Amino acid sequence: MNKIALVTGGSRSIGRDIALSIAKNNNHVVITYNTSKDAAEVVVKEIEALGQQAIALQLDTSKVDNTQNFVHEFTKAIREKWNATHFDYQINNAGIGASINIADVTEDDFDKMMNVHFKSNFFLTQKLLPLLNNNGRVVNITSGATRSWVPGYAVYASAKSALDTFTKYLAMEVGSRGITVNSVSPGPIQTDFNGAIIRNTPALQDFVKKQNPLGRVGMANDIGGVVAFLCTDEARWINGQRIEVSGGMAL
Ligand code: NDP
Repeated sequence: MNKIALVTGGSRSIGRDIALSIAKNNNHVVITYNTSKDAAEVVVKEIEALGQQAIALQLDTSKVDNTQNFVHEFTKAIREKWNATHFDYQINNAGIGASINIADVTEDDFDKMMNVHFKSNFFLTQKLLPLLNNNGRVVNITSGATRSWVPGYAVYASAKSALDTFTKYLAMEVGSRGITVNSVSPGPIQTDFNGAIIRNTPALQDFVKKQNPLGRVGMANDIGGVVAFLCTDEARWINGQRIEVSGGMAL
């Protein structure tokens, strides 16, 4: 029987590639979008073209209160579509980028970054744990910026570090159910992230290429297959890890 994955922020970029990669391994996928409903519906069609089924649901993780209603919508959707009460893989991917030096960070900037990258992921995962099948998977998408400095990423990287720490604590608490929890931490990836800063800044692209042993900028499709692998039986012994997927950036 097909297993079911949830990929937040699956409407575009890295989340889209994760959703497609998981679908290619014969799984059904629920993706979430915040603003890109049309793009999310295209991803649903792409998954269907692979022979799997998909659902797109709206979720705004900038407000933690939204997670309760989302859990209700998710529960209803998987019951109606697949007659399922549980799911198998939770991928916490949705994210936002902003380059703000510490001196200029407002409390609103801080709260939004923390809500999207840490608080909502924490409580969404907490609320969905009773629905996650034993031997399931949680994958948190964090960042290479938690290991090496990126200008203006103090709040962003701090929030991602909190998510990395949550990965380890959650792995300890759910291991008795056979559930593994890992972080996948991409290096710079050329997507729409942070105003498509890499795509729009040739000097930044050159810098990234020079910092990378493989001499190129990462693309969304460098990431999805790794997350999909973590959602296989072969990856069952990888647990509580932060896996940097960056081509060896900033060694
Ligand atoms: P994009 O900006 O290209 O896509 C972001 C995705 O997150 C979209 O699907 C978007 O939905 C969703 N999203 C944004 N804000 C919210 C919100 N408030 N609530 C719910 N969903 C939201 O980013 P990437 O694909 O590049 O990034 C994906 C993840 O990878 C993020 O967690 C990011 O931090 C991380 N990452 C990215 C790197 C990079 O260089 N690109 C490097 C390291 C980590 P919608 O379009 O519907 O609004």
